[in-house]
Amino acid sequence: MPIIGYGTWKIPHNVCADRVYQAVKSGYRLFDCAQDYANEKEVGDGLKRAMDDGLVKREELFVISKLWNSYHHPDNVEKALDVTMKDLKLDYIDLFLIHFPIAFKFVPFEEKYPAGTYCGDGDKIILENVPIIDTWRVMETLVEKGKLKSIGVSNFNGAVLMDLLSSAKIRPAVLQIEHHPYLQQPQLIKWVQNNGIKVIAYSSFGPQSFLELKNPRALECKPLFEQEDIVRIAAAHNVSPAKVLLRWSTQNEIAVIPKGDTPEQLAQNLQVNDFDLGAEDLAAIEKLDRNIRFNDAWEFAGLPTFY
Ligand code: NAD
Repeated sequence: MPIIGYGTWKIPHNVCADRVYQAVKSGYRLFDCAQDYANEKEVGDGLKRAMDDGLVKREELFVISKLWNSYHHPDNVEKALDVTMKDLKLDYIDLFLIHFPIAFKFVPFEEKYPAGTYCGDGDKIILENVPIIDTWRVMETLVEKGKLKSIGVSNFNGAVLMDLLSSAKIRPAVLQIEHHPYLQQPQLIKWVQNNGIKVIAYSSFGPQSFLELKNPRALECKPLFEQEDIVRIAAAHNVSPAKVLLRWSTQNEIAVIPKGDTPEQLAQNLQVNDFDLGAEDLAAIEKLDRNIRFNDAWEFAGLPTFY
């Protein structure tokens, strides 16, 4: 798995295929997608065009998708994966993650796909009693069938992950989590890495991605691009604050999947491993931890997933 990839959350439909095509052209090989992002068709269009034009071969790409909360029931996992594979126009997925350790009531695909937080009754969140291991068992069979090359989880805390490890036949290859200087989670990362599981950081720029969602904490806190220590470290290395934020992860073997919006950002985010942060830089960044989580299931579903 490449250590730098391209994130596709919130890329608007009308620009998504072109953006993905440009990302391949710029050199990206890892693409982080999800059923919930509601743009897998367009991502698939961009990837197909890039392959048809000879920019890249399928085996050079590493495509991630995520099983949405509405499809955890064993009856629905493979059907949901089939929708993703059709949308992405791929006959296998490199890494399929359980998006959240939350099972919503199933919503038929023809009623609403992806279902988001809709559980069949207006705004009401309705849970389905599906243990994670039941979902995981089906994911394991999909690896055996060859539809998935590897499987993993996202937004799991240590306790849920330990429970899964206690009975998984195929261990999760990856944990994908929100990770930036304001939310560092060093114990979780250390334990996960010591157990041979790769970590992927999402929302590496902290509040930046959540401003357009009017997230109150994102609006209140200082943008990481303007935070004094980050700006100082960036100036000392003659790089941008964005590169400091990404290098801080990759230097610790944590993969990153930034969503650049412009050709300049796309290029910059791919070239982050051409310098190293020093011990003093790392110590200053460590002090920025505020335990501020921007992507919180308490807010979008009233569920204490992280508490
Ligand atoms: P991000 O941290 O990548 O930030 C994106 C924002 O930063 C955009 O506003 C963009 O214009 C800006 N930006 C990008 N590169 C820049 C640069 N070099 N300089 C200045 N500004 C720059 O945010 P994200 O999209 O939330 O996270 C990245 C990816 O992680 C997503 O696209 C998605 O694939 C994944 N993700 C996963 C989950 C999950 O639950 N598993 C949740 C959120 C995001």
